[in-house]
Amino acid sequence: METKQFKAESKRLLDMMIHSIYTHKEIFLRELISNASDAIDKLYFRSLTDDKVGMNKDDFAIWLSADEDSRTLKISDNGIGMTMEELENNLGTIANSGSFKFKSENKLDEDSQIIGQFGVGFYSAFMVAKKVTVISKAYGSDKAYQWESEGVDGYTISEAEKKNVGTDIILELLDDTDDENYSDFLDQYRLKSLIKKYSDYIRFPIKMEMTHSRPVEKPEGEEKDENAAPEYEDYIEVETLNSMVPLWKKNKNELKEEDYKHFYTEKFYDYNEPLKYAHVKNEGNANYNALLYIPSKAPFDFYSKEYEKGLQLYSNGVLIMDKCADLLPDYFSFVKGLVDSEDLSLNISREMLQHDRQLRVIAKSIEKTISNELKKMLKNEREKYEEFWKAFGLQLKYGIYSDYGMNKEKLQDLLMFTSSNESKLVTLDEYVTGMREEQKYIYYATGESVARIEQLPQTELVKENGFEILYLTDNIDEFAIKTLAKYKEKEFKSVSADDLGLESDEKKEEIKAKEEENSDLLKTLGDALEGKVSKVILSQRLKSHPVCLTSEGQISLEMEKVINSMPSDQKIKAQRVLEINPEHPIFEKLKSINAADDKETLGKYAKLLYDQALLIEGISIENPVEFSNLICELM
Ligand code: ADP
Repeated sequence: METKQFKAESKRLLDMMIHSIYTHKEIFLRELISNASDAIDKLYFRSLTDDKVGMNKDDFAIWLSADEDSRTLKISDNGIGMTMEELENNLGTIANSGSFKFKSENKLDEDSQIIGQFGVGFYSAFMVAKKVTVISKAYGSDKAYQWESEGVDGYTISEAEKKNVGTDIILELLDDTDDENYSDFLDQYRLKSLIKKYSDYIRFPIKMEMTHSRPVEKPEGEEKDENAAPEYEDYIEVETLNSMVPLWKKNKNELKEEDYKHFYTEKFYDYNEPLKYAHVKNEGNANYNALLYIPSKAPFDFYSKEYEKGLQLYSNGVLIMDKCADLLPDYFSFVKGLVDSEDLSLNISREMLQHDRQLRVIAKSIEKTISNELKKMLKNEREKYEEFWKAFGLQLKYGIYSDYGMNKEKLQDLLMFTSSNESKLVTLDEYVTGMREEQKYIYYATGESVARIEQLPQTELVKENGFEILYLTDNIDEFAIKTLAKYKEKEFKSVSADDLGLESDEKKEEIKAKEEENSDLLKTLGDALEGKVSKVILSQRLKSHPVCLTSEGQISLEMEKVINSMPSDQKIKAQRVLEINPEHPIFEKLKSINAADDKETLGKYAKLLYDQALLIEGISIENPVEFSNLICELM
């Protein structure tokens, strides 16, 4: 028989798995049980609408059996089984499974501890077995097939004998070594405790024949010798090892924090503990139990198109969908968890589900719960919230901006920005509460980093007034702020805006008079920069810096940068305004050149000042060579 090779990627992962010095080899059992349970789920779900399956809920089970002589452990299920093609596709390659992707993108060490805690599935069998045999008969098929592999060398598939639909997985355990006692996995008590630890909530019985011992009952009438040692005999009893009550159906007071956390790391393949969890038992307009988790870190693909949001959906304990996207709004897409409801009809198709009224009621209620949990965390567990914000804040800001701002009311109190006060995170409410009486606006400044913004000349005037500034460093920030427009009646104002509401009327008059006085100078400068700026003005906001660049109209320089960096043909341009500080010595210099009517030199100064302003803004200049030549020339 021809031995087939694993797909290249599978081979690598397999190799990694086998040779990893991973200490939690025991998780292979959880993985195989969980696959068996999924397979039963599929057939059970089918049986509800298809009489031909001919099975009742009570007929389904997973069986464990260990044989010490052959050193084999068998895990059997009467689930949906696999056809020959499925054996080939599902067990011959793991390139499609999320785990491989995760590993390659995170460049984990070959012997990383993460391997076992992550959902490595079927392949984890090779951590404990030298040979794995899978015998399976798919539902609806009259033939059974056998898949066999001794690890990286490849696998074979052949026809096999099997009476019932379902799958047997037979592991021939590795030989014991000094470090690892694989024989342990043949011990009934060890197996029982592993099932309790990892698979207790599995909703189908996991059964095993257990051998116990009992004193031998002497037949009636035989004389009892009080002094003789009692005689014992072995007897075999089938036991169901798991309690089968799903965690979310248990009473909250029966459960400990560890139970919730453990369930999360096992079920959602996250090796970090969740930041927060909520166990919801809702009654009323929507009847459901839910377990909701906020991860402590964003998954590696969270901010990519590959990420799929959604909660697991159960109908009365039966899994009907693995990732029900309709249960979560996009801005809460980071939430993991599950919902179990009695209100949903079981034979509902995915398409129908989307339009199901009950599902929408549940989704609304879940959204409220998440929102409340976040608000509670913000209020009572500030540090944790900031951690959350760092991982998922971006998603909430997208939420403000998307759908034309439809959800801004719901989300605005969850936002945080870096404040100019000690660079700490503040909420909008905290900002507004701390506003001084004479302060009209919520000021913000944009830039690629806090350090960079702190140096912006535009912030000078606002800071001099002692007002707090929100530092916006993410691309989405200014778009979100513009969508909000106001918070608690206070308007947002960019420190680059034309009217900051800070200048006194006298000051404004004074600048205006100066502009009139120097109108020909400003015009010459403006002409020299034609096509680059829409005007050159005297600044009211600059204190020590000579120049800065601001913008007129709706599009700011930062927005221009963001939009133009996107992969689209649509380029936009902010209307740039060059501001010159009339208090700065450079202004006197400009005036004197103008008085000498030297338009050419003035034009050179204009270019230099403009380029300087661009550099301060973090925008690259068009012609660095010219810039450098001009500097030398004027030096
Ligand atoms: P995952 O479970 O994460 O998809 P696995 O490597 O554990 O990855 O399994 C690959 C696939 O093989 C499963 O998705 C399933 O389709 C199939 N499979 C594994 N075990 C069984 C089983 N006991 N019965 C039926 N199908 C199975």
